[in-house]
Amino acid sequence: MSNLQPRRKTPSVRIGGVNVGSEHPVMVQSMTNTDTQDAKGTAKQIAELARAGSEVVRITVNTEEAARAVPEIAERLAMMSCDVPLVGDFHYNGHTLLQKYPDCAQLLAKYRINPGNVGFGRKRDDQFATIVEQAIEHDKPVRIGVNWGSLDQKLLARLMDENGRRKAPLAADAVMREALVVSALQSAEQAENIGLGHDRILLSAKVSAVQDLIAVYRELASRCDYPLHLGLTEAGMGSKGVVSSSAALAVLLQEGLGDTIRISLTPAPGQPRTDEVLVAQELLQSMGFRAFAPMVTACPGCGRTTSTFFQELAKDTTEFVRARMPEWKLQYPGAENLSLAVMGCIVNGPGESRHADIGISLPGTGESPTAPVFVDGKKTITLRGDGLTSEFLELIEDYVKTRYAPKAPGDT
Ligand code: SF4
Repeated sequence: MSNLQPRRKTPSVRIGGVNVGSEHPVMVQSMTNTDTQDAKGTAKQIAELARAGSEVVRITVNTEEAARAVPEIAERLAMMSCDVPLVGDFHYNGHTLLQKYPDCAQLLAKYRINPGNVGFGRKRDDQFATIVEQAIEHDKPVRIGVNWGSLDQKLLARLMDENGRRKAPLAADAVMREALVVSALQSAEQAENIGLGHDRILLSAKVSAVQDLIAVYRELASRCDYPLHLGLTEAGMGSKGVVSSSAALAVLLQEGLGDTIRISLTPAPGQPRTDEVLVAQELLQSMGFRAFAPMVTACPGCGRTTSTFFQELAKDTTEFVRARMPEWKLQYPGAENLSLAVMGCIVNGPGESRHADIGISLPGTGESPTAPVFVDGKKTITLRGDGLTSEFLELIEDYVKTRYAPKAPGDT
């Protein structure tokens, strides 16, 4: 029985060829970090993100050159047979760019508006209205994406004043969270008043602290039925970014909240941008929402695994299934559900291996140098010697071909 709470009901929102909302799987998004006016570099990174599994890719559209580059980006993607929907991220000058570059407006599948960065003073409402009108004209959905780093200061000041007049004022961070929620909801209401359909709006309200993010999204979810895009903003680098994003998003997803997710990792120099897609997929798969690629269970190793062979086999197996998955996905539907185990010694090795579709129990220090393989819970073969890795990977390939081969008509 699943511990997951039912998804919060939302309308379905179509983004290009992808549907988002409670009737659809939680979607994985990512964002490029190339200069958008570099159409070649941006198209290459979008294609890499899409191949890694990003179902929507956001690009910043911050200048006239960036807006002008969008048609070339779309053309280059078409030449690579990449049809991932593109989202334009607009700040300050979105109203101008969308009006001046209709090709850009038409080729983007969704516009992201940050209500805190639309404009200042009286111009703010007019510029917001222009972006929404462009979305209506080009039949695009809009994500109203509030961020605490660029929160509408006028709104925050008003809520702070009102709070100061209360008999029991709330703490400043509670008022900040309320301002995020109110900013998103008021902007959505404003967009609907201009004529944007209720089912053309998604919301996000990103902060960089785990507990604040959970509180903000719970509140937002309780006050509207728009689909929610989840993400911990400025999550950081490496394990800190992965852990804090996963901690926050896991709590919300478990409660049935969230229809799309992004893991906002800061890549280390040389680290691929696609890592954020991998983490998002692994989060959804490890929680039981979706399957993207076979999962490899491996023990952490201990004093019983003094050689590095066990670690190398776990790594080779993980990389092998990830590399094979694009082809398996086409030829052997369901292969993403395969479960594998690579275990370091006899203590937990046979037991864990029996739970997987295919598992191998390597010999720990002092054990006989043989590695029993378990298929569907039964010991089938014992591997040993230099060819062990390639033989094990071959077994996985054969298993996928046999178990997930599409049935011919009439097969039972
Ligand atoms: S299965 Fe064996 S090698 Fe792996 S952690 Fe347990 S005792 Fe150590």
